[in-house]
Amino acid sequence: MDFCKKCGSIMVPVKKKSAAYLACRKCGYETTKKVTSLKIKETNKKERKVIVLEKDTANLPVTAKMCPKCEHMKAWWWLQQTRAADEPPTQFFRCCNCNHVWREYK
Ligand SMILES: [Zn+2]
Ligand SMILES: [Zn+2]
Repeated sequence: MDFCKKCGSIMVPVKKKSAAYLACRKCGYETTKKVTSLKIKETNKKERKVIVLEKDTANLPVTAKMCPKCEHMKAWWWLQQTRAADEPPTQFFRCCNCNHVWREYK
């Protein structure tokens, strides 16, 4: 069991987009720690259209790509199946400078 760093109340798991986080019901404080459970895995299939902003970039490849926001020339990229399984996956980029995430259809 986790407790809120701010007020010490019990943290409850909250579903957010395709991931789940622990949140404090009292003060609204949220952890960045992802909660994995069977329930969340089930909903993931239905919520594939949502862009995962909290993608772990540590193991992602970096490519020379211009960020549309800050014009930085380096970005992490990954492929993600966002639509039907028979359609090509969408390529996502995340700016190494400002963390802006955008997508490109192949
Ligand atoms: Zn709290
Ligand atoms: Zn940028």
